[in-house]
Amino acid sequence: MIPRSHPRYQSLIKRELLVEGFEKGIVAPAGLIAHGRGETFDYLIGERSEDFAILAEKAAVAKMLMARNPVISVNGNVTALASADIVELAKLLNAKIEVNLFYRTEERVRKIVEEFLKYGVRILGDKPDARIPGLEHKRALCTTEGIYSADVVLVPLEDGDRAQALKNMGKFVITIDLNPLSRTARTAHITIVDELTRAVKNMIDFAKEINDKEAERILSHYQNKVILAQALRHINKRLEKLATDFQALQA
Ligand code: ATP
Repeated sequence: MIPRSHPRYQSLIKRELLVEGFEKGIVAPAGLIAHGRGETFDYLIGERSEDFAILAEKAAVAKMLMARNPVISVNGNVTALASADIVELAKLLNAKIEVNLFYRTEERVRKIVEEFLKYGVRILGDKPDARIPGLEHKRALCTTEGIYSADVVLVPLEDGDRAQALKNMGKFVITIDLNPLSRTARTAHITIVDELTRAVKNMIDFAKEINDKEAERILSHYQNKVILAQALRHINKRLEKLATDFQALQA
């Protein structure tokens, strides 16, 4: 039991959720490593949703509200960390949820589907009938009803190849990724450089607020490369300030 007063309470809770997910067979071993990479960037960012994240979250919600067939793709980490909030967001955005795994095993797919059933939601992906062109083996599997026919896909914590393959299919790709330098972050049309659980909660709030007119206005101003630049500059400035503060303590 982690005491709430612990200075790293939120971070430790997420680790616990991932370890639990791993033990249940929902999270892949490599998912634990991916989480560690995310944590590193969150430490550098300062573990809060900065302006560049908020702008991207608003744009993502706007795009999904205006989409014909928006789909949220979920993997083991997303399921372990945020399944309840993903269900709420999907309802608000009228989006489908589809399980899509890098290390696909039928058992892991089944367990993820069962996890969402606890919230009364039958997600897609356990009976794939289509393939994402350009990807080999099981990574390509998807459903016609979901990802294959989607016009807008939210792919949090995605790998660069698949993000590119989805883009090549003509889809509008939105990602949530703490690493502004990852291939996925650079490939996506909208990159939310924020921690998954914070990002999804913010998006739920925005989905309740944004109307069609506002959605159009938000999207007309949105520039993803500027957002990536802002994220990098934020890290840069923050580290420079911390270095100056350390130096002053020594003086
Ligand atoms: P790419 O192929 O896009 O270059 P990668 O190989 O670095 O990515 P993957 O392991 O495929 O990374 O994807 C995981 C990504 O998700 C990493 O960039 C990591 O920083 C990010 N990530 C991990 N956990 C979280 C989280 N909780 N919230 C947001 N981002 C996260």
